[in-house]
Amino acid sequence: MSVRDLMTKLDMQQAGKEMHALVTQLYPICRSITGAGVRETLGILQQLIPLSVREVATGTPVFDWTVPREWNIRDAYIKNSRGEKIVDFTHCNLHVVSYSTPFHARMRLDELKAHLFTLPENPAWIPYRTSYYKENWGFCLSHNQLSQLKDDDYEVCIDSSLEPGHLSYGEYYLKGDTEQEILISCHICHPSLCNDNLSGISLATQLAQRLTAAQRRYSYRFLFIPGTIGSITWLALNQVAAAQIKHGLVVVCVGDAGKFTYKKSRRGDAEVDRAAAHILRHSGTEYVINDFSPYGYDERQYCSPGFNLSVGSLSRSPHGTFPQYHTSADNLEFIRPHSLGESLAMYLSVLAVLEENRSYLSQNPYCEPQLGKRGLYKAIGGSADSMASEMAMLWVCNLSDGNHSLLDIAESSGLPFHIIQTAAGLLVANKLLREVSDTRVA
Ligand code: ZN
Repeated sequence: MSVRDLMTKLDMQQAGKEMHALVTQLYPICRSITGAGVRETLGILQQLIPLSVREVATGTPVFDWTVPREWNIRDAYIKNSRGEKIVDFTHCNLHVVSYSTPFHARMRLDELKAHLFTLPENPAWIPYRTSYYKENWGFCLSHNQLSQLKDDDYEVCIDSSLEPGHLSYGEYYLKGDTEQEILISCHICHPSLCNDNLSGISLATQLAQRLTAAQRRYSYRFLFIPGTIGSITWLALNQVAAAQIKHGLVVVCVGDAGKFTYKKSRRGDAEVDRAAAHILRHSGTEYVINDFSPYGYDERQYCSPGFNLSVGSLSRSPHGTFPQYHTSADNLEFIRPHSLGESLAMYLSVLAVLEENRSYLSQNPYCEPQLGKRGLYKAIGGSADSMASEMAMLWVCNLSDGNHSLLDIAESSGLPFHIIQTAAGLLVANKLLREVSDTRVA
C-alpha cells in the first residue's frame, strides 16, 4: 500500500476517535522537559509503536546548552490555617509551576502572592507556567480563586526534586527504500494540555503506525522530544545523521477547529514547503501560510543556520493565537476527534506528494505524442476527470524535460498533484516517459 493509498483509504472519523482516545489516556500525566511523566508517556507510546527511549545524562553539553537536572514531583498544595487544601496538585497538575524547586514553609497571603499566577482576562482558567532555566517555585490558579483568598497563615508545600538524572526522549526510525529521511517531530514536555502537545503526539503516533504498513521511498524518523532542549540534544548527538533529513514537519496544535496553518521552513521554497502549500491550495478548506520566524517550536532548532533543514510545521491554530493556549482550557473538550482526523489526512496528503514527486524525461520530445492511438484519451472515466486527465497528460509530456518535477508541473498547470501523478503513471506505462534517475543509470 502506498502512502497515497493510506490517505485515500483513511477513515477520518475512526482515526479521529482513536487519536482523541490516546490524548485522553495521556492527559492526566504530569510531564515536563525531564522526569517520570515523560517516561510514563513514552512507555504508553511504546505499546503502540516500537519506540526506542533514549536517556541523556544531566550535564551533557549540547551545543551552547547543557542537559538540565531531572525534575520530578510527587505532591504540592497550599493549605489554609484550618488545614484545608485550597490548591491541590493532585486535582490539576497545572497548579504547580513546572520545574518548581522543593519548598515547604508557612506564610501570609502577601508573601505568597509573589508566587501565585493567574489569568485576570480569563478568570476561570488556570494558566500554565514554567521555570526551567531559573530556579523558582510557584502555583497557578484561577483568578476567581485568588480573588477569594483571605489574609491567613498558609502552609505551602512543593514535594519535588531537582537532581542529576536524565533527559528522556523517544525515537522511531522506519527504514524506507532510500536512506534519505522524512522527519516527524513533536514535543512531549507539557502536562495536561491537549492541543499544544498531546494532539501532536497523537498524530505522530498514528502516522508512525500507518507508515509502518506502507511502501516507503523515504525512511522516516519520528522524534518525541521535550521542546527546545530535546531537539537541541538530538541535533547535537546526531549531527551526521541529521544530514540525511530531506524533509521534515513539526507536528503541533492539530486538534482544534481552527483553519490550517503552515509555517514554512527557513529556506522558504523547500519541497516540503511547496508540497504543503499545494495540498492546502487544493484542499477546499481555509488555510494560512506563514513565512519562517525564529520563534515557535522545534523548527527553530532544525532551521538554525548550521543545519538549515527543510523542516516546516503544519498546524491548525498556531501557538499563542487562541485564548486557550497554555491554560487549563486547552483541555479534552477544546480538541475534537473530527479536527484530529482531518489533520491526519492533511499530513498523509503532504507526505504522499513527497513520496511520489519525481522528475521524468519525455521519450517523445519532438511534438506531442499521439495519445489517441494509444487509448490515452478518456483513459479515466467521468467527463470532468477525463478532461483533467488529458490536460494533465499534455502538461506532463511538455514539461518532462528532466528539469521539472511532478510538483512543478502540478503548480504550473494548476491541477492537483494526484491527477498529474496518475497521468505520469499512464505515460510511463505507455513508454512515453522515463524517470530521470532511470536515464542516468542507463
Ligand atoms: Zn507550549
